[in-house]
Amino acid sequence: MDVLKTSLKEIRDGIRGKKFSSAEVTKAYLNQIEKWNGKLNAYITVNDQAVAAAAKADELIAKGEGGALAGVPIAIKDMFCTKGMRTTAGSKILENFVPPYSATVVERLEKAGMVSLGKTNQDEFAMGSSSETSAFGVGRNPWNLDYVPGGSSGGSAAAVAAGMAPASLGTDTGGSIRQPASFCGIVGIKPTYGRVSRYGIVAFASSLDQAGPMTKTVADAALVLEAMSGRDPRDSTTSAQPVPQWEQKISKNLKGLKVGLPKEYFSDRLQPETRAAVDRAIEVVKKAGAETVEVSLPLTEMAVPIYYLVCTSEASSNLARYDGVRFGFRADFSKKPAEDLAEFYCRTRGEGFGGEVKRRIILGTYALSSGYYDAYYKKACQVRRLLRQQFLDAFKQCDVMMSPVTTSPAFKLFERISDPLEMYLNDIYTTSANLVGIPGISVPAGFSGNKLPIGVQILASHFNEQALFNVGSVIEEGLAIKELPHGLQ
Ligand code: GLN
Repeated sequence: MDVLKTSLKEIRDGIRGKKFSSAEVTKAYLNQIEKWNGKLNAYITVNDQAVAAAAKADELIAKGEGGALAGVPIAIKDMFCTKGMRTTAGSKILENFVPPYSATVVERLEKAGMVSLGKTNQDEFAMGSSSETSAFGVGRNPWNLDYVPGGSSGGSAAAVAAGMAPASLGTDTGGSIRQPASFCGIVGIKPTYGRVSRYGIVAFASSLDQAGPMTKTVADAALVLEAMSGRDPRDSTTSAQPVPQWEQKISKNLKGLKVGLPKEYFSDRLQPETRAAVDRAIEVVKKAGAETVEVSLPLTEMAVPIYYLVCTSEASSNLARYDGVRFGFRADFSKKPAEDLAEFYCRTRGEGFGGEVKRRIILGTYALSSGYYDAYYKKACQVRRLLRQQFLDAFKQCDVMMSPVTTSPAFKLFERISDPLEMYLNDIYTTSANLVGIPGISVPAGFSGNKLPIGVQILASHFNEQALFNVGSVIEEGLAIKELPHGLQ
């Protein structure tokens, strides 16, 4: 079995058909991790129980038991609580946090029989677009080690691209699944808000956060999403909508499908190579029977400002729990005790959080403070509502929309990290899906001149993930990536 080429579905079938055992497959991925993690820094923690878990899965399979994805390994972003396994959120403040319970989605994947390979690197608290804000060192892109893998789920993307996992879990608050998937040449889907439980996922911005799979193929993403979706009594924002069997229902006949092209997404800021890749994907979709129609989302230029007000406001509240009292890091007070509680908090949080997280807590606290709340947070919520209406109106004219994921492919490490505004503008095409709650997928569509992958984004209306899988499969078939990551040679 070649870890760089084999899909999750092939692994599932191979284990079922006794071509190989879960233990053998798991060892193959662990070998690849051993070989490449020193360079890519895709994993923060490797599961030293993975082979034992795989052997257990093999026993169950032999008895005719085991779930839909029995014995298939998966990597998990370090935002997901994993019982008994360190969960850092890429931060120093949770450096030694070992959760007493697992996130619902982790439980569901385990119930489906999946084997955890470990926890992947990410931007601290998922705040970033490059995996450079991690307290555990920067992540790297398997296509070129001098470039970022994207973020915040950069470790999850790099792990799949580099054959260090057949699939991974990511979280997407403003693009953190779709953007790294695009930068690393893999598939990543952010489902509809409420499709997937957020219980046990370290909270960044609760009204935007959603979890989703990152995989080599569209069908693989459908399979993993099926296993993790659905109502969870422990997260009241989850929907009771039934979870379809997406993978089985994938249809590559797009006859009559209307594809909206939001004109604001094809402005001058889009780099020509990226535009060419998206255009190629549009041609492939048209050949499969779809028609295109221009749509307009005039509030697009407001998406980044609204997003950065909403996400920082929610983050400032969510991150208040890291106070050094209840759990996580506490500053060393053995030599110089704190004078009072305020100093205790200040030193703990001052030493425990990184620069980007502090910036966001300060921004969010400012936007929520009395006197500024109406001008910033409330206004952002109002414009968010209008943006949602624009999307709902546009979806009256089309079934899906196609767009770039980012204006350009992966950028060089350390190139943008000192310019937060430039970094934030990178999120122009992805944040709207989170603000509006609709699902979005990124599918590989080609390469730049310097051999870096470029993805195309497909968006659909609430709970219409099926359309994303259908269109995504057509693009995948038409523009399949045959090359292997150049950085691994
Ligand atoms: N890049 C965005 C940010 O920095 C998105 C992050 C995410 O989706 N978690 O907030």
